[in-house]
Amino acid sequence: MYELDDVETVGVVGAGTMGAGIAQVAATAGYDVVMRDIEQSFVDDGFETIDDSLSRLVDRDALSEQEAEDTKARITGTTELDDLAGAELVVEAAPEEMELKQSIFADLDDVLDEEALLATNTSTLSITTIASATERADAVVGLHFMNPVPIMDGVEVVTGERTADETTALAHAFAEDLGKETWESDDKPGFVTNRILMPWINEGIRAFDEGVAEKEDIDRGMTLGTNVPMGPLELADHIGLDVCLHASETLHEELGDRYTPAYLLKRKVEAGDLGKKTGRGFYEYDE
Ligand code: NAD
Repeated sequence: MYELDDVETVGVVGAGTMGAGIAQVAATAGYDVVMRDIEQSFVDDGFETIDDSLSRLVDRDALSEQEAEDTKARITGTTELDDLAGAELVVEAAPEEMELKQSIFADLDDVLDEEALLATNTSTLSITTIASATERADAVVGLHFMNPVPIMDGVEVVTGERTADETTALAHAFAEDLGKETWESDDKPGFVTNRILMPWINEGIRAFDEGVAEKEDIDRGMTLGTNVPMGPLELADHIGLDVCLHASETLHEELGDRYTPAYLLKRKVEAGDLGKKTGRGFYEYDE
């Protein structure tokens, strides 16, 4: 199995919100990155996300113009999975669907060098189940980056039933090399973060729906009262209400009724009010 010093090229599967962010931070840290999506337009969107993010970092003096240029130059986009063949480490950030992730991992297992590490950025799905689609479950691990990837300091390392200690060690070392801090979770639904965050968000939504307080007061109560940077309704809008619902449904299925999604969360998603990304969730946003 590879060690950190052996890793030169990082593959990223998916050029969406998370994939683009992961590609960017890996390239900024000096890795060559191959970012793969299924259509060229999605790859182009990924590069646009990276451009925007790098410009903001340059504006804030968090990165020099040269570092931003170097970062862009290290990322190659592709629609061909075979182009990931030379990567020593791959992070998958495709949509949160088990069948899709399993088919991607089966394909990666065929394409990649036998010593390569395969990581998934899943928020709630089982690492062990994803790994079972491969012949190298020992080399599969969760690397759960947080959104927005270039800004958030933490990465959750998730160990599946068969994840080898060397794989876990490389996952921590890689994330730390990207300037992140890590913590570790066993492969239990929602890991540490979403297991605790999703019921908190759902309870905030229920409190609003049941008339406990105005939405602004619920968010102010939690930010001022418990010293978190965003209240539950504001944070749900930021994450995306569809993402919150999907995560809550997975947790409900796995862990039972205490994870029942809030009624109003389902109605909002059915109405297409998905939060910041659609311009309306619990609050309204300029698009
Ligand atoms: P997204 O929808 O923004 O991006 C997913 C991308 O994957 C899309 O561009 C899609 O075209 C592409 N894709 C689909 N099938 C593919 C395939 N076979 N090969 C390559 N690319 C493919 O989703 P996202 O928000 O970036 O989430 C990705 C993963 O990260 C999910 O597992 C999600 O649960 C997890 N995650 C998301 C967040 C968040 O806040 N958005 C936070 C942590 C983890």
